[in-house]
Amino acid sequence: MTSSRLAAKTAKLLLDGKVTLLTVDDPGTAIADVLGSVLTHRVTLSRGGFACTCTAFRYGQRCSHITAVAMVVDHPCRRDAVAAVNS
Ligand SMILES: [Zn+2]
Repeated sequence: MTSSRLAAKTAKLLLDGKVTLLTVDDPGTAIADVLGSVLTHRVTLSRGGFACTCTAFRYGQRCSHITAVAMVVDHPCRRDAVAAVNS
């Protein structure tokens, strides 16, 4: 996915209210549900980093679900997400 497409998808998820944060805890753990075009994807942040239940993540791609959640949690990963959509 190109960064401009990632940025557009990330912004749309946030603007359309598709991201539901379920838990955000110190130190750096979070769980969120992100409503995709068909399925709801579960995004989890733990000490090991982000994981998503979508197909793109399973194939090792940066998905917009993770980027959208990273944008709204107060964690160092937010810097990576901002850089990814602005590059
Ligand atoms: Zn995903």
